[in-house]
Amino acid sequence: MAIRPILHYPDKRLRIPGEPVTDFGPELQTLVDDMAETMYAAPGVGLAATQLGIAKRLFIVDTATGADAPSDLRVVVNPVILDGEGEVVFDEGCLSFPGAREEIKRHAVVRVRAQDRHGATFEVEADGLLAIAIQHENDHLDGKLMIDKLGVLGRRLLHRSMVKRQSAEATAR
Ligand code: ZN
Repeated sequence: MAIRPILHYPDKRLRIPGEPVTDFGPELQTLVDDMAETMYAAPGVGLAATQLGIAKRLFIVDTATGADAPSDLRVVVNPVILDGEGEVVFDEGCLSFPGAREEIKRHAVVRVRAQDRHGATFEVEADGLLAIAIQHENDHLDGKLMIDKLGVLGRRLLHRSMVKRQSAEATAR
């Protein structure tokens, strides 16, 4: 297992949509393990393969929060959001936007069909933080980012602060 570098906005590779996963062999298993290690180290509640520059339709989520909570790792491959209901606004973060929190409106409940890490199909109805994380990560697979959900001013401010942060990091190196 290895921690892999997470791409930060405005890296253009974050805009490349994922291709369906067809091979559930050892390479995918290694990728899933690396993604889990990378997400827990960050730490974050979700990570999409596209955030590692890997254009595949696959993400992981673990919404168990707090040191005492048991882990609840879900591996979601080739997801399809079957339907969504209700509306919720949540202060979201993203490992590709370090330090940023933005209020984003999403469905409160979603029903998803996907495959697990071995290719078995499952369906899940999610609400709460899990529903939000699934929608956020699913957007990543289409090259969509949380900044796209903001108004014109919000987009401009977040873009500017990320570019500033990137150049500060480059200078520090
Ligand atoms: Zn994200």
